[in-house]
Amino acid sequence: MSPSVDSPLFEIVGGVDDLHVHLRTPPFNTEILARLARAGGAGRVLVMPNLERPVTGASRATAYRRAINRAEPRLDALMTLYFTEGLTPADVETAAREGVTAIKLYPAGATMNSAYGVSLSRLATMAPVLAAMEKHGLILCIHGEIPPGEAVPVRTGWETASELATAGNAATATSSDPFDAALLKELIEAEPVVACSLTGEAYFLPILLQLTREFPRLKIVLEHVTTAAAVMTVARCGPNVAATITVHHIDMIADDWAGRGHLFCKPVAKTARDRAALRQVIRMGHPRFFLGSDSAPHSLPAKLPPNGGSAITLEQATRAPESLPSGQSPVACCPGVFTSPLLVAYLATSLERFGALDRLADFAGRFGREFYGLAAAAPPGGEPGVLRIFRRPQVVPEHYDLPGGPVVPYLAGVTLPFSVEWANTAEPTECPVLAAGEAHPDALDEAGVPWV
Ligand SMILES: [Zn+2]
Repeated sequence: MSPSVDSPLFEIVGGVDDLHVHLRTPPFNTEILARLARAGGAGRVLVMPNLERPVTGASRATAYRRAINRAEPRLDALMTLYFTEGLTPADVETAAREGVTAIKLYPAGATMNSAYGVSLSRLATMAPVLAAMEKHGLILCIHGEIPPGEAVPVRTGWETASELATAGNAATATSSDPFDAALLKELIEAEPVVACSLTGEAYFLPILLQLTREFPRLKIVLEHVTTAAAVMTVARCGPNVAATITVHHIDMIADDWAGRGHLFCKPVAKTARDRAALRQVIRMGHPRFFLGSDSAPHSLPAKLPPNGGSAITLEQATRAPESLPSGQSPVACCPGVFTSPLLVAYLATSLERFGALDRLADFAGRFGREFYGLAAAAPPGGEPGVLRIFRRPQVVPEHYDLPGGPVVPYLAGVTLPFSVEWANTAEPTECPVLAAGEAHPDALDEAGVPWV
């Protein structure tokens, strides 16, 4: 007999671990986002550091964690630092002592707020920092994409002689016949190879392999993988290399996000074959692939900025792009998909679609915990509680009215077949929202400096 809507399909003690989330501060304050993350089923989160003013030191990470703990004491927040070129081995040692879990490497220019990141061509100069991370047991989390427009292969300084010998040699055209097919091929091949959103992740993989060769004991997580190539590469690496996978990347391909700002993220979802690789590795129960939602809220204006002086309305934003009035096609878009308020319901829906619902607890809990070497979630507010997952339909809100503007969540308006509840806790069913314009105390860090 199948369980009724009143009895849970299954329970997860402590909820799931979301090992990649953005709990950005104003205009989307930590209080709201931390509570939404727990309401979505996360008992523990790994919080990314790419605020507009990045989290570069242990004291700032600690202040950020306190802000999260004050807002949602039942959420166990693990913190990350932003890997800047100014980071030192002493900073790493301090971070390890202060309980920072990981350091996030963003190739400069690869995504949102990555301008403070490391230029990949100078990565080898950061070897002392990476060695210190290896020594002190900090995890290296990587946004693994060559930034768009950057010539590849990128020389990091760690190339072996054979890697250097196979680097491309541009051919020189000699004929002037514009219809000469051989010449055309030659001209195309003579073009410098540069990365773009579709290829940046695959071009990054040789650098991942260099890192594993140079620092064999450093634990590395390739974040939000989107390609079959990345799945194969991580699977072939040793036990110190893992990958996170988002919910939206196991659902979408490129056609799904093209022209739909609220589904656009970095890295972008790619081909059906790439998506199949993500699904298969989850269905197989590979222990080095686990959940990291990469959930990130952006307001509608940031997702669909006004063009030609006229703002795009919420109604227009949720319509198909071709229905927008002429001249109002989106021109720029912040990358990020907002999934954390309904994370486990989305995940259960996706996993069931490809026959992997029985992998949920491992994929969203045990595998990440084992790789990170974590005990059970231990939030400061006491027992994390038990997450119950029900086969009970719910409709995804059309938008969340958050301070800072409305945010369209992933699959807005769609009916999901699953819902979650925390057992034995007074979990609010409604998201507590600050009054418009109300300043949140967490808007300032310890030194009284605005977060952003
Ligand atoms: Zn992210």
